[in-house]
Amino acid sequence: MPEFTTSALEWITLVLEERFGYVFTLRQGQSGLKLSLANTSQGYILFPKVEEAFHLSRSDFPCSHWDADRAGWISVLEVPLPAPGVNDLSEPVIEKKEDCFVINYDILGLTYWMLNRIEEIGRTDLDNHNRFPATASHAYKHGYLERPVVDEWLHILGQVIQCTWPALELKRHQFNMKVSHDVDGASRYGFSSFKGMLRGVAGDILKRRNFKSLLLAPLIHLNSSKKIHHADPANTFDWLMNQSEKHNMTSAFYFICGRTDAYRDADYEPEHPAIRELIRRIHNRGHEIGLHPSYNSFQYPEIIKAEANRLRNIMQDEGITQGELGGRMHYLRWEHPTTLQAWNDAGMTYDSTLSYADLPGFRCGTCFEYPAFNPETQKILDIRVRPLIVMDCTVVSDRYLGLGYTQEAEEKILELKNKCRKVHGCFTFLWHNSFFVGKESYYLYEQILSN
Ligand SMILES: [Zn+2]
Repeated sequence: MPEFTTSALEWITLVLEERFGYVFTLRQGQSGLKLSLANTSQGYILFPKVEEAFHLSRSDFPCSHWDADRAGWISVLEVPLPAPGVNDLSEPVIEKKEDCFVINYDILGLTYWMLNRIEEIGRTDLDNHNRFPATASHAYKHGYLERPVVDEWLHILGQVIQCTWPALELKRHQFNMKVSHDVDGASRYGFSSFKGMLRGVAGDILKRRNFKSLLLAPLIHLNSSKKIHHADPANTFDWLMNQSEKHNMTSAFYFICGRTDAYRDADYEPEHPAIRELIRRIHNRGHEIGLHPSYNSFQYPEIIKAEANRLRNIMQDEGITQGELGGRMHYLRWEHPTTLQAWNDAGMTYDSTLSYADLPGFRCGTCFEYPAFNPETQKILDIRVRPLIVMDCTVVSDRYLGLGYTQEAEEKILELKNKCRKVHGCFTFLWHNSFFVGKESYYLYEQILSN
């Protein structure tokens, strides 16, 4: 039977401490994993079951369900609760004994497996961008990708903790929303070559029947040397900041600071005067600057580090200091745990890549931010993981869900936002500055922020 290492146990107690606001200790004993409260010898919770599946990099194991409410507990979302890893979850799942509670489902193993993406390590069933796709995941195969399954189970565990130590006042979390914008293109025509601009115009006319760009494109192309032109279709920065400010939020803008793919990376250099002006403007309005590592950097820690340092230099030049420096991988490219370790070693504060490009939902089974852990080296890392719940194009674009800028897209996104709200977590949402086409797109964005 697999056992947690000491550092894995330490990491689990960190997660529990963040969630519940108390310091716990975890000890592996003869009868199972024993959860106690630090500084008291009274009461404990025993986990006798260890699911081997939670320590293996595969997705072909069963999933059961549990009607917690019928057993006298309270589900935070709909009944029944998915229980990955087991064929059949027989009652009682939670038993009260004389001196403790026994939980016959490996909630801590589930937390370890989901948050540390054990399932993805070394996988070869990847998509055309070498990404682990949603469709290969256990969560998708068993229909719970749109549920924050770890948060749901920790909600149950919280109730058992409360019954074990009735005097505790468990931490109350507040729902919040974080919006971020990957700056894949800062300007539609400002930084492209003359030829590139002409190609863009041809596309506008042939594909989008947009004849306006015949006049607009050369104008923008010639007038973007100091500042991104106000009429540029990708120049939605001020509008995005206005929207965030209306809702008392800050927007985070992640900049590409390297080119490892001539076609897929940005056409701007972050040192360009117009980008510097933009970075200053974002900062002066109280919003956040972050990093968007280039297309081929995900397997190369030294590239991620160099790109992070390039951004740091620009920020330093501009006199910008921020409490944290985070970001997200371009195309959500991610090799686990290589990319995570690379972010950590580049001295970044958080990463917000982990969602699937092909489907929205809870890739990590949670919408809460958490301390990262490298399952290969078994080391607790300094960086934090901020799971992404929805990326704009995942829901809107034809190559993924294909719902367009519609009511249906709005409903799908708000459904996920509401689940985050119900578990008092964080709805992390990505909308590219260059992803607005027509008034429906602006309307959709506003609806998501307002509801
Ligand atoms: Zn990107």
